Amino acid sequence: MVDARDVVVIGGGFAGLSAGVALADLGFRVALLERKPALGGRAYSFEDPDTGDFVDNGQHVLMGCYNESIGFLRRIGSGDNLVFHNDLEIEMLAGPGRSATLRTAHLPGPLHMSAALMRYRHLSLAERYSAAKGGLRLLKMRREDRAALEKTTVAELMDQLGQSDNARRAFWYPLSIATLNDEPEVSSAALLAEVLVRAFFSRRSDSAFVYSRVGLSDLYCTGARKIIEQAGGVVASHALVDGLEVDGDGVVERVRLRDGRRLEAANFIAAVPPHHLARMLPENAVADPFFQRIGELGTSPIICVHVWLDREVTRSAFVGFIGTTTQWLFNKRRIFERHGERHPGYLSFVISGARSLIDMPNEDLLDLVINDLGAMIPAARNAKVTKALVLKEKQATTAPSTASHHLRPAAATPLKNLFLAGDWIQTGLPATIESAVVSGRAAAAAVAARAEAAGSG
Ligand SMILES: Cc1cc2nc3c(=O)[nH]c(=O)nc-3n(C[C@H](O)[C@H](O)[C@H](O)COP(=O)(O)OP(=O)(O)OC[C@H]3O[C@@H](n4cnc5c(N)ncnc54)[C@H](O)[C@@H]3O)c2cc1C
Repeated sequence: MVDARDVVVIGGGFAGLSAGVALADLGFRVALLERKPALGGRAYSFEDPDTGDFVDNGQHVLMGCYNESIGFLRRIGSGDNLVFHNDLEIEMLAGPGRSATLRTAHLPGPLHMSAALMRYRHLSLAERYSAAKGGLRLLKMRREDRAALEKTTVAELMDQLGQSDNARRAFWYPLSIATLNDEPEVSSAALLAEVLVRAFFSRRSDSAFVYSRVGLSDLYCTGARKIIEQAGGVVASHALVDGLEVDGDGVVERVRLRDGRRLEAANFIAAVPPHHLARMLPENAVADPFFQRIGELGTSPIICVHVWLDREVTRSAFVGFIGTTTQWLFNKRRIFERHGERHPGYLSFVISGARSLIDMPNEDLLDLVINDLGAMIPAARNAKVTKALVLKEKQATTAPSTASHHLRPAAATPLKNLFLAGDWIQTGLPATIESAVVSGRAAAAAVAARAEAAGSG
């Protein structure tokens, strides 16, 4: 007899772990199964054996508006590992010495952001005014006709808002590509509006960047595991689920693991990306239009190049590059407390929405990034590369296309006791840590509601 409090959660990323912790807090016994040797999913880090530095698969930035993620991290005792910037302050470089900073003002939101734009020197005065006006108009469009925005790409939106080529290049597109992870020509304007309203045109504290001062895996995996285990649950790695066994009434009875083990539970949460979900579904479920639609979701890649130079070439914690293929530079010395002094030249470069580069050989990508760095910061031309790592995430996030709005599902599925979680679920947010955590908590709430209904029925 299966205990009504038993839940299997498949996947140990932000979505699965936040679902597991929420369930443990509600008194459920969770078996969390992760196929890899370590937890962390796409937001993972590892210790580089040569340098001792913690390397993230890609620099992860949270924002002040990530309320659910910050709440989750505080709940698992990791709040102190977050560094909160007081204000948004982004240095953007358009060439040697051509630096301008987007710095929010000490004003209540959204005036803090309008003021930041009005002082942003990469735009002419007319462009600054037009960008601030465009932002406010976009918020109005979101309030009045979100459905229309869902059918509009970011590039089309820029036409509607009358934004100049320079305003797109120096402000809108870096913001859009960094937050949505795809080209403006295919990204949804509704998702950009969501980012703007939550992060940039709300409270001042919502727009501030929030970093982890420890490696990503230390930030959330250990604490979450502890809470699930303290509530009587188990967290197993090397536990690849390769099938869901479903009875004739559409109820999942158990999961089948690759090693032959089977595990029963009253409810199941699949917190895995769409292509992994498809592999574990029984044949008759795969044909269901609900799951077919999920199969149509596309993905978008991110490339991260980690470079150790023999010296520090910038004192900024992060810098946006305008006009080069490389988009962002993160200066790990300024971000990480622990290893910075030993390796002051550790930089990490990010290229989001990197479809056209994903098949480029690693050596060429390294050359490209180093050339871009030299073009922006001439002092770096004399620095020596002592080590480099190129990390390509081909399926980094769900593509933020206009089509994604009707393809992203809610937590409930046609299988009565199977719920979905993951950054790609319909949260209204781009595929981010915040979306993953929101989805994990929503799936846990759906399980609790079903258990309660079963209990009272
Ligand atoms: C390079 C990069 C940079 C990013 N930067 C940012 C950023 O700056 N800010 C931000 O908010 N977001 C960022 N993101 C997005 C963020 O990492 C993701 O949104 C988030 O980690 C997704 O979490 P998840 O739990 O939904 O999925 P995942 O992290 O993919 O977790 C799913 C887990 O399920 C496991 N799994 C899959 N199949 C099975 C199976 N059959 N059995 C058992 N386990 C299985 C996987 O191994 C994985 O651990 C970035 C992503 C990448 C790749």
